[in-house]
Amino acid sequence: MMAPLAVTRCAALLVLVVFNAVIAFAQNPSLQCPDQLVGLKSTIWKTIEIPVCWETMEPNYGTERQWVRQVIGETWEKNSSVRFTGWGACPSNSRGIRIGIGDINPHTKGLGSQLAGSANGMVLNFVFQRWSPNCAEPNRKEYCIKNIAVHEFGHALGFAHEQNRADSPDWCQAEKQGTSGDVYITPFDMQSVMNYCNPKWGGDGNLSALDVKGLQAWYGKPSQPANRYDGRWKGTMTYSDPGCVADSIEVNISGSNISGTMATPDGRRASVQAGMDEAGQLKGFQVRLTPKDLITLRGNLTEGTLNSTDCGCGSYNFRRTP
Ligand SMILES: [Zn+2]
Repeated sequence: MMAPLAVTRCAALLVLVVFNAVIAFAQNPSLQCPDQLVGLKSTIWKTIEIPVCWETMEPNYGTERQWVRQVIGETWEKNSSVRFTGWGACPSNSRGIRIGIGDINPHTKGLGSQLAGSANGMVLNFVFQRWSPNCAEPNRKEYCIKNIAVHEFGHALGFAHEQNRADSPDWCQAEKQGTSGDVYITPFDMQSVMNYCNPKWGGDGNLSALDVKGLQAWYGKPSQPANRYDGRWKGTMTYSDPGCVADSIEVNISGSNISGTMATPDGRRASVQAGMDEAGQLKGFQVRLTPKDLITLRGNLTEGTLNSTDCGCGSYNFRRTP
């Protein structure tokens, strides 16, 4: 669905809600737009491997850098396919997230891929002499640094402040700050690490259930090893055109490589070469059965939709064979 359409529909619903003096827009699931988002959709990274580097590598901040690396692994990475790579000193041409350190309000200069290659695109505070001095206390420092890092990396993934949403409570909207999202992935979430109104500051650095849902909507669930599909599979391809009978296909999968043969009931055969990603999504799965019949499969290995230039659309599934 196009983002502007979703926004228009949401706006229309809001007007309706106000008109009818219905109070809790956010609490009535039937009034939520089907494709709500919390981020700025144009800033989703096109890759799930996002480089991260430090503008400076002060030797006395080694522990603080490690805290950041650790908590990002335990939150955004653990719950999705996103991997933040590198974490060394910034090469001059780095196109990833470039983190600077300063004793100022931690922030990002934009959302998501807007940070790509931006010098000091994210600023974290390891000092806390001028800004938030209570975080300088020895028993608070690790908590503050990790908590803030989770929030700022949320911005780096393209997520805006939850309190900026049109459906946040009035008292909470007073906290509006920074770039707003243009699409709402989940219902308004008081527990979000991106919400200033969260009764726990930064959600104590723990992603809420809806944070995880939004994260996975954009960046996928945690990836599994690609080789879990290794072996022989048999597929059935069914066409919506009743004049086309189901074709069968046998493939061998090794890592991300798929190869095999497709056979039609009347004895024609065609070879298959395709790929698959770590999440089991087919890549480039096309079979040219005849010069004018190209069959394309889209979806997971186990099931999905297909399109044939000869037989129209349909569906397929693969099952393991002994
Ligand atoms: Zn923020």
